[in-house]
Amino acid sequence: PFEVLVIGGGPAGSSAAIYAARKGISTGIAAERFGGQVADTMGIENLISVTYTEGPKLVSAMEQHVKEYDVDIMNMQRAEKLIPAAQKGGLHEVRLANGGSLKARSVILSTGARWRQMGVPGEEEYRNKGVAYCPHCDGPLFKGKRVAVIGGGNSGVEAAIDLAGIVGHVTLIEFAADMRADDVLQKKLRSLKNVEIITSGQTTEVTGENGKVNGLNYTDRNTGENHHISLEGVFVQIGLVPNTEWLKGDIELSQHGEIIVNDRAETSIPGVFAAGDATTVPYKQIVISMGEGSKAALSAFDFLIRNSAP
Ligand code: FAD
Repeated sequence: PFEVLVIGGGPAGSSAAIYAARKGISTGIAAERFGGQVADTMGIENLISVTYTEGPKLVSAMEQHVKEYDVDIMNMQRAEKLIPAAQKGGLHEVRLANGGSLKARSVILSTGARWRQMGVPGEEEYRNKGVAYCPHCDGPLFKGKRVAVIGGGNSGVEAAIDLAGIVGHVTLIEFAADMRADDVLQKKLRSLKNVEIITSGQTTEVTGENGKVNGLNYTDRNTGENHHISLEGVFVQIGLVPNTEWLKGDIELSQHGEIIVNDRAETSIPGVFAAGDATTVPYKQIVISMGEGSKAALSAFDFLIRNSAP
């Protein structure tokens, strides 16, 4: 069995594995796809001290860094079930999709999240070529340009307010008759001069030319009329889904499915910790995930020195 078993190989999991291994304790990391969301990212400009990098380059740097230590890397392994230790300090078990199972005295869950997609033509084709999901990451790439934000919940309206200060013009498109965001956010949004709000709008296609987004089509759900908007960017803000379905019933999750953690990255199960986008920690970013992963590993180490046989 491992002293520390990390599930998930994104920034949070990589960081947790490095911190654990540096304590000289046996460490394993199982990931469905090493790199996580970073593998799907183009330019990264907000990883502090690295002015510019690209997703695949950062993934190979993370992997290289993990390999500097004695870490058992199990790539392409999907965890399907967590069976908590019968008593504090005992062995937790993680069952894998391939039928195998791993045991560990402490577990760090860092299975990340995925952006909910619209599922319309052009969205996948123009991903990272005008279709974006993270305003903190990609907002500055659209300086002075025209963008749409899809979704009028809190994250959509926050994104629209944020982007309005950077880009030339923002069109927010909400599917329902009303936006669901908090009133104070809606009021702020309505006060901005370069923002247009469309409700009852169903986005039907992201259009493009020469490999770049040039607009979108939407249907007015009240009249059935189709419209085209010319723009350079589309920010999809219809929800971030944590990869925690496999944990339901075994660990405490928030109403959004996020693993509930305290400020020491502890979950509802003693000896099981969590970090990154899969947790209730706000703001889903690479630096934040890396910080939380290191914190989870230090907490796991602290747990082990207090709870294992001398
Ligand atoms: P993830 O990166 O999601 O990694 C999760 C890991 O868990 C993966 O290895 C996955 O395969 C694995 N996994 C999932 N389920 C299981 C399972 N059941 N069993 C085993 N393994 C599993 N952030 C920035 O700071 N700057 C940016 O510029 C930026 N740009 C982005 C661009 C895009 C297109 C996207 C999608 C995100 C971007 N982000 C950016 C956000 C950033 O990528 C995430 O905040 C960060 O990757 C979260 O790290 P994580 O380790 O928590 O999760």
